[in-house]
Amino acid sequence: MLQIKQVAAGYGSIRALKDLSLSVPEGSIVSLIGANGAGKSTAMKTIMGLLRPQFGELTFQGRSLIGVPVHQVVGMGISLVPEGRSILTRMTVLENLEMGAHQRTDSTIQQDIQSVFKRFPILEERQQQLGGTLSGGQQQMLAIGRALMARPKLLLLDEPSMGLAPLVVADIFRVIQEINQEGTTILLVEQNVRQALKIAHYAYVLETGKTILHGKAEDIANDPRVMAAYLGGS
Ligand code: ATP
Repeated sequence: MLQIKQVAAGYGSIRALKDLSLSVPEGSIVSLIGANGAGKSTAMKTIMGLLRPQFGELTFQGRSLIGVPVHQVVGMGISLVPEGRSILTRMTVLENLEMGAHQRTDSTIQQDIQSVFKRFPILEERQQQLGGTLSGGQQQMLAIGRALMARPKLLLLDEPSMGLAPLVVADIFRVIQEINQEGTTILLVEQNVRQALKIAHYAYVLETGKTILHGKAEDIANDPRVMAAYLGGS
């Protein structure tokens, strides 16, 4: 579904991605792991069109994404839940969800809001509350709900469990798996490597802007280098 070949990208003279090659098959969960600063968020921004690659190929369902503006990337079926969630804190929960659908013109938006409420009942209870008054876990649910309002075929999740309590983390991972089982393909960036590899089908390891290892998630979880560097040696 998504193919990335030898992509380089960065910020001015900083080359954050040097050689990223990655493939996300339709229907799968692919996990991208790597240390702080390895280039994971940069990869997500490059896929969305927030950064333009300096080299390489980037295609989604056979169409090149290079030079495609962000709103068109969303229109093609890719949504990003960014690191740090970036929900609109001074808008209500409901308004945040409506923002996620602002590019749509079809008549099923209300129906989709109801589906988000069904998935996250707490958001229905708090629909008139300002986004900023929600707990961290609820804000993450809102950020995921907002991304789903664009009806993505491919959902990019950048550190969805960051800063959340263990029980909430378990909830978020369960929801990611459910969303995938209902037909959405997922590219997941996580520091929580153990849990990410548990739900993923495939995984890629990124080091200083390069893909150094990839394979089935269970094989990556058993790789001695991954165990030593990301799984506390266990
Ligand atoms: P983290 O988990 O810490 O977010 P990451 O793997 O997502 O790590 P990136 O955020 O992609 O890493 O950063 C890759 C490199 O690019 C780092 O060296 C970082 O300092 C640099 N970088 C990231 N964002 C910017 C920016 N807006 N301007 C300049 N340099 C940046």
